Amino acid sequence: MASPSRIEELCIRKGMKMTGQRRIIARVLSEAEDHPDVEEVYRRATRMDPRISIATVYRTVRLFEAADILERHDFGDGRARYEEVTDEHHDHLIDIQSGRVTEFQNKEIEGLQKRIAKDLGFRLVGHRLELYAVPLEDKEKEDKKD
Ligand SMILES: [Zn+2]
Repeated sequence: MASPSRIEELCIRKGMKMTGQRRIIARVLSEAEDHPDVEEVYRRATRMDPRISIATVYRTVRLFEAADILERHDFGDGRARYEEVTDEHHDHLIDIQSGRVTEFQNKEIEGLQKRIAKDLGFRLVGHRLELYAVPLEDKEKEDKKD
């Protein structure tokens, strides 16, 4: 049998009972390099076990989210998307035409946000930043080079 996925190991450490179906859903989410919604997790999970129901996927994803194993995002299309919680912070740029999500990190933005909070009398403990964008036209790409 395959070795446990990262998320499965986290679940075990947190004392969660791991059924075969939960294990598969944990593997799908551990292997995801994108930000799948529940339907997509369901599609991938049923490739490994066609008996998994969408209700089970919903329940399991919510359980993982409540245990701080998954982070939920709303990228503006009304569908909850999930990714594994990691120590490394990143923000997201969403291509509103294709729905493709690009992860990025920017030191200036991170610093600026801390400064804004501080100027307002707060210490920043977290943030969410989503950029909604369309791909540059070829002409605009030329301008970018200048
Ligand atoms: Zn992400």
